[in-house]
Amino acid sequence: MKYVKPLGALGAAVVMALSLSACASGSAAGGDPGSGGKVVIGIKFDQPGLGLKEGDTYTGFDVEVAKYVAKDLGYTDVEFKETPSAQRETMLQSDQVKMIFATYSITDDRKKKVSFAGPYFIAGQDLLVAAGNSDITGPDTLNGKKLCSVKGSTSAKKIQDNFANQVQLKEYDTYSKCVEALASGAVDAVTTDNVILAGFAAQSQYAGKFKVVGKTFSEERYGVGIKQGDTKLCTAINAALEKMVSDGSWQKALDDTVGKSGFQVDTSVNPPKPDACA
Ligand code: GLU
Repeated sequence: MKYVKPLGALGAAVVMALSLSACASGSAAGGDPGSGGKVVIGIKFDQPGLGLKEGDTYTGFDVEVAKYVAKDLGYTDVEFKETPSAQRETMLQSDQVKMIFATYSITDDRKKKVSFAGPYFIAGQDLLVAAGNSDITGPDTLNGKKLCSVKGSTSAKKIQDNFANQVQLKEYDTYSKCVEALASGAVDAVTTDNVILAGFAAQSQYAGKFKVVGKTFSEERYGVGIKQGDTKLCTAINAALEKMVSDGSWQKALDDTVGKSGFQVDTSVNPPKPDACA
């Protein structure tokens, strides 16, 4: 009988620990897949063809993939929040968003802070220049040039790591600011993923003004950012992504969004198969 009390206390502690861990993956940003209700999803607000907010309307491939996945996971209400490149890890860690679909490359560095489902798309880093520019033809021709990219992006990091000696790198918070700087002549080129640059080049206000150089120099695997270690959510997202490809919705979403810019998708690597959830 001596043990009854300690066991009871232990039992209560176990129940508490279990119930705490059961809600660890649920937050104000959304519950576990299958629990329904609202989910808060991070996207870009200024990237035409991928994640764009105009008034109350959200368009782009990332938005379409996000909506499909959210529905497949049983969420009944989606709230979109802007997740600029440099803030994505923090916004997941602090439960401001449940998932991020924002041209978010899967990298080992980022995996130290967050986890990824997917990839659901593969792009490559490229350069955007004025339509009449003939001296920038690839990353090896950037000597002495002013180049714009975005803080916290793999694009800026690649330049810092590989071309820092030759290039004057200007870093803004968003790519739309870089594109404005290119339009005004404040910079010679903008660098990020080819699919993002193609979306800007196709915007009516920039018609005929820019060209994408077309020589990619990285592989950017777009994943769905989630809280680190949420394997249950990762597995559910990957199943939804595979379904989106097999039922034709992935291709349709791509044609309706990115396709409009005339961007040629690299079909030798797209659509990609999701990685195993760690
Ligand atoms: N895909 C790259 C990245 O995740 C560049 C695009 C972006 O900044 O969203 O850093």
